[in-house]
Amino acid sequence: MTPRGLLAWLCLLCGGVLPLQAWALEQVTLQLKWRHQFQFAGYYAALEQGYYRRAGLEVRIVEAEPDQDTVAEVLQGRAQYGVGHSNLLRLRRQGQPVVVLAVILQHSPYVYIARGEIDHVHGLVGKRVMQEQQGDELFAYLHKENVHPRQLQLLPHNFSAADLVAGRVDAISAYSSDELFEVRASGAPHTVLTPRSAGIDFYGDNLFTTEEEIRRHPQRVKAFREASLQGWQYAMAHPQEMADAIQERWGRRHSREHLLFEAAEMQRLMQPELVEIGHMNAGRWRHIAETYQELGMLDDTRLDGFLYDPDEPPDRAQLVAVLALFVAATVVLGLTAGHLRRLNLRLSQRGQALREAHAALQVRVSEIEALQSRLQEQALRDPLTGLFNRRYMDETLEHELARARRGGYPLALVMLDVDHFKRINDTYGHAGGDELLRHLGQLLRHLCREGDVACRYGGEEFLLLLPGLHEPALRARAEFWRCSVEAMVVTTHAGAAFSVTVSLGVAVFPEDAQDVRSLQRCADRALYRAKEKGRNRVEFALPAGEDENRPAALA
Ligand code: GH3
Ligand code: MG
Ligand code: MG
Repeated sequence: MTPRGLLAWLCLLCGGVLPLQAWALEQVTLQLKWRHQFQFAGYYAALEQGYYRRAGLEVRIVEAEPDQDTVAEVLQGRAQYGVGHSNLLRLRRQGQPVVVLAVILQHSPYVYIARGEIDHVHGLVGKRVMQEQQGDELFAYLHKENVHPRQLQLLPHNFSAADLVAGRVDAISAYSSDELFEVRASGAPHTVLTPRSAGIDFYGDNLFTTEEEIRRHPQRVKAFREASLQGWQYAMAHPQEMADAIQERWGRRHSREHLLFEAAEMQRLMQPELVEIGHMNAGRWRHIAETYQELGMLDDTRLDGFLYDPDEPPDRAQLVAVLALFVAATVVLGLTAGHLRRLNLRLSQRGQALREAHAALQVRVSEIEALQSRLQEQALRDPLTGLFNRRYMDETLEHELARARRGGYPLALVMLDVDHFKRINDTYGHAGGDELLRHLGQLLRHLCREGDVACRYGGEEFLLLLPGLHEPALRARAEFWRCSVEAMVVTTHAGAAFSVTVSLGVAVFPEDAQDVRSLQRCADRALYRAKEKGRNRVEFALPAGEDENRPAALA
């Protein structure tokens, strides 16, 4: 047999061992964790755009029943893939062989939605709270704020916001992308309490599978993951089209408006323009493990094979398959041993070179990934205060304004400037001034609610974006920020303690201005007035024209 003939033979054999896409579609099931809605749009897109089919897969997408243990569906083999909460990590450490393939939501959507007068988790004490068992991050949130779940009147969840709106309960655990829509639409005063305000930042909606699936079908796992993520790219780029598709073909439970609200909120939680869809990082998972450790739910922060490496396992399996093939070929083609030996030699040399190149590449890829995530973080945050930086704010302002315009809600821009900051520097040194800025950053972060954005805009100037607040709630909030700063005591490393005050200028879209530049100008002038009137006060933009001749406070 000629070498060419032998190769053809090998290829035929290969086809039998390695799954080739051209052959019959493999059937797999994806178990969702909730009912059909935008939350799973990426998977519908992967199916309807033919990404799964092209990957050789025929995928059945199954929605969840209330109270169904959807992880068990995957663990018991009724589905091969599932969508799960971050509690997957806890299950893994308890011995369940789950492996997370990709993270869809970079930030968990779990929040409490409470009646309007409750403005902090402490306000939930003694109150009637409909609580879902699943959201570990909410329990971590209570723990972090020193509230014991027993202090709440926990009630079973009926997965509707109706009881909250009707005042039959005081708060519900919820997805900010889902139930919040109903509450907003009802117009009932409400507060969103997010675990992120206490520094708890879990991933949300994780695509997972089992160790066995990865061991037995490495190519299928890789293909399913890739096609799913491709679906997500499509879905997030075509939210309107997906909302229609969901309504037409997947379920009419939600109105189109509700689906689009979900899409917009998911966009915020995914940040697809900043983070590649599906990306996960061991450091973030370790933060989640640390939170579990603090809660006493885990002994340490080991991840124990919980994270899928999209490059490594399939390749190794492929290598094993090729080797197995070699053995078979040696027996079958014993008579052409001469040819085979030469070919074998060539292939194994090539295999060795490939392995080395692959290993080197792996190292580079992880270096680049680490660098990328560091850069991403640096590019958006101010290192001293941990708040967003000016660049981020400049980019976000346009975006938020457009959202407010589309959503028909007001957007307040607040400029906050430290009073007589130079004196702080003069009295306590530059390090003392820095310490103050750090404290202020921490406080502002803490005061942010879901949807608020706080950034350090300049030396001791901060910009806050507060969407959806009308008078008088807006005035009360601005006053609250001012008082909170006034009450803050800063201690320097040298042991000196001091306090500061701030002045705030507020302008609101659409009343005061229609575009970003004029909105900034209005807030700036209001801030100038606050300074002029004696500092430590909040001033609102004046009706058009009345502020016009004033010089701007900030250049
Ligand atoms: P006003 O009430 O009018 O705002 O008075 P002010 O003293 O705060 O005035 P101004 O805004 O002009 O002064 C800001 C000072 O902040 C000037 C600058 O030296 C100082 N500064 C700017 N950035 C930093 C920083 O990162 N750290 C420290 N320690 N000081 C800074
Ligand atoms: Mg100042
Ligand atoms: Mg200033």
